[in-house]
Amino acid sequence: MGGAANSTHLSALAADFTCPGFGSPLEVCKKLAGSKMPYDQIIQEGTWVHFAIGAPNKTPRRQILTARFGPKGTTYTIGL
Ligand SMILES: [Zn+2]
Repeated sequence: MGGAANSTHLSALAADFTCPGFGSPLEVCKKLAGSKMPYDQIIQEGTWVHFAIGAPNKTPRRQILTARFGPKGTTYTIGL
């Protein structure tokens, strides 16, 4: 259900965005994933990108997920 991802929005540590000037959400995810930014979580969420920075007191997980929207809800798989 993405509860963990959603909770990071509440603490302003995550943002959802698109970057059509750069490319598709997948291309944006790939670019971010290959960067040296200390991200906690990047999710290719269909038509947008979920980008979470880590909490200041926690080691960033550098986790990369793809959201899949199925009849039973959203599931997340590792990788792009
Ligand atoms: Zn999000």
